[in-house]
Amino acid sequence: MDVLQHAPALTAAEASELARRLFGVSAEAAQLPSERDQNFALHTPAGDRFVLKIANAADDRALLEAQNAALLHVARATSLCPRVIPTLDGEPMASVVVSSGTRHFIRLLTWLPGQPLGAVPDRTPDLLVELGAAIAELDAALEGFDHPAIHRDFYWDLARGMALCRDAAPRIAPPEMRALVTTLLARIEARDAERFQRLRRGAVHNDPNDYNVLVSEPFGSSGRRALVGVLDFGDIVHSYAVADLAIAIAYAVLDQADPLGAIAAVTRGYQRRRPLEDDEIESLFGLVILRLCTSVCIAARQQRQRPGDAYLGVSQEPIARTLPALAAIEPEAVAAAVRQSRGPTPEETLAARRRVIGPNLSVAYRRPLKIVRGWMQYLYDDTGRRYLDAYNNVPHVGHSHPRVVRAATEQMLLLNTNTRYLHDTLAGFAARLVATLPPPLRICYFVNSGSEANELALRLARAHTHRRDVIVLDAAYHGNTTTLIDISPYKFNGPGGEGAPPWVHVLPLPDSYRGQYRRGDPRAGERYAEFARHVRNPSAFIAESAPSVGGQILLPDRYLASVYAIVRAAGGVCIADEVQTAYGRMGTHFYAFEAQRVVPDIVVLGKPIGNGYPLGAVVTTAEIAASFDNGMEFFSTFGGSTVSCAAGLAVLDVVEEERLQEHARTTGAVLIERLRALAGDHPLVGDIRGSGLFVGIELVKDRETLQPAAAEASDVSNRMRDRGILLGTDGPFHNVIKIRPPMPFSAADAEHLAMTLSEILADMSV
Ligand code: PMP
Repeated sequence: MDVLQHAPALTAAEASELARRLFGVSAEAAQLPSERDQNFALHTPAGDRFVLKIANAADDRALLEAQNAALLHVARATSLCPRVIPTLDGEPMASVVVSSGTRHFIRLLTWLPGQPLGAVPDRTPDLLVELGAAIAELDAALEGFDHPAIHRDFYWDLARGMALCRDAAPRIAPPEMRALVTTLLARIEARDAERFQRLRRGAVHNDPNDYNVLVSEPFGSSGRRALVGVLDFGDIVHSYAVADLAIAIAYAVLDQADPLGAIAAVTRGYQRRRPLEDDEIESLFGLVILRLCTSVCIAARQQRQRPGDAYLGVSQEPIARTLPALAAIEPEAVAAAVRQSRGPTPEETLAARRRVIGPNLSVAYRRPLKIVRGWMQYLYDDTGRRYLDAYNNVPHVGHSHPRVVRAATEQMLLLNTNTRYLHDTLAGFAARLVATLPPPLRICYFVNSGSEANELALRLARAHTHRRDVIVLDAAYHGNTTTLIDISPYKFNGPGGEGAPPWVHVLPLPDSYRGQYRRGDPRAGERYAEFARHVRNPSAFIAESAPSVGGQILLPDRYLASVYAIVRAAGGVCIADEVQTAYGRMGTHFYAFEAQRVVPDIVVLGKPIGNGYPLGAVVTTAEIAASFDNGMEFFSTFGGSTVSCAAGLAVLDVVEEERLQEHARTTGAVLIERLRALAGDHPLVGDIRGSGLFVGIELVKDRETLQPAAAEASDVSNRMRDRGILLGTDGPFHNVIKIRPPMPFSAADAEHLAMTLSEILADMSV
């Protein structure tokens, strides 16, 4: 280890001259302490400050380039680190040959204000929490960074710490320290070494010691300090992702009266931003101790080489004082404290929910997601990971769309009350809504969900026809109330279901992929409609205008026109459940029934119309509304509330102003085209169908028999989730991959989804 012999030895005057010549900065230079290179603080007469860094001659250019690249990378996500100032020639660094004939690379960085944490005697818990949060911010900013030069054999790399210490411990001079380090190494070897192998890896700063971390002056009445900077990427390496936290803790606990409390405080701050994995929690204390042992071993070696250099030993006295205290702490106690300092994990959240929530409330995906934030077509989990949401059609105009959030919040700040008081938004929203619908659909009722809206639609139909029987499509779902379960074959024929009540008549699902009449049959629509003819005295026919729960089905041409004609001739009314399909999702039309060239008697709306604010609506004709007005009052406490109308109006504004229907049409066309191009020839893919951003991919084990591939569909959706894309499965055989994203879903998202799906299908076929 002759690296110290290559340390540069410039004078301050020489440093000042280099700064002027290479970077055009005229400043006074003052040397800063450093182990293996030379750093000078530069002060310009104008008061600007920089750091001139003169590298060790043994450092290779690639590593210095990696440091600069890392600084540029993290600067995109955090202001905690210095920025690189280019040379007068625009290069990220310069090089000079000094009088001894050796070449040194030189870089100029911005100066960060603040003083080292190491110089602050009172490390309050708040400050330690801040330290943890800053290290997490740094690690998060480093995420995705890589460079060939950081995959290196470096003696400060904790992943090599065991080997280094095993070799060097016997030569630690003071016998008590030698014995302590030897004992601690044996403990780590037995408890942790195997687990270390499993730790996730990534680029780490690798030296956030208390002299590389800067804090502000005390401020405010409490005199707290903020964490303002992290310096010196000289030790950057590809190693355990948790290394920065372990190293920060190793120095933060030095001379602390309550080291366990200090560890818990730092990890609490860290995990607010980046939750640790289980193996990391178990390994953390071992890594903290390993870092301190490594420091003792390296200092012992270096002191043999340069006995007079005080800097080499700066940390050794506090380490010698603190290590025995750390050795007395049970590793299990640390793991428990760290675990507790993490917010509940998804598993813990799930367990808590299972204790107090009905067990048949399901959770999506094998590995449940804990989503904490949404923005447009993206969702973010508790670790900050972003997911492309290709599944949720409720946040129609985008998760947390600011326009809708603002409209609802402003109204809520003012008043949220019911329809028995006059307010202008009720009629205002109703007028805007009926303007999107063809006449004679002119009368609105507002409720709080799709289920309530379908319930009300049935009441309207029954009041109008004085009949009870209902015609439904097979595999349909219309809601969760008692009556709606009775008209939902998806439920009454599914697990726990009790079959159709006598007043419910089920027609075959007009599925032209696997049904009785298929594509290529020009009269498939009329033929499927004929099944309605045998039902006597119906009060209503109810169907999704594009059956979504049934498997993202596009009805064959003329189906609704034919079936509506038959039902009306028999005296029934026609209800279009547009809960999934409304507001431009289909791209070609604002409502799915329009593509079938029909006008229903009652339209049911839900999910998208409040963008997540609970809002359902029923729109009907004046004639049916008159029949319903039979003396019994209709009232819904929350339906049509001031806030729901404000939210509903804002959603309509956004749909129109952002031209989302047109966007769905063009983006959906790209999506279907890319899916067909990339995934279409995988043998599992039986059918790709859809309109706008309403798309289904039906998976089959055999393209001749159409045997449904349900397990495979579930596997695809789970693998997509692991790759950061959220989809679902549906259809009577659960073999249809369902894509119906928030409408801001872009062409680039479509491309990414199709590529990822194609890779997953390819993986599954090997
Ligand atoms: N109709 C259809 C077609 C639906 O998909 C749903 C919900 N999935 C409903 C009605 C019921 O809506 P809600 O869950 O808002 O009661």
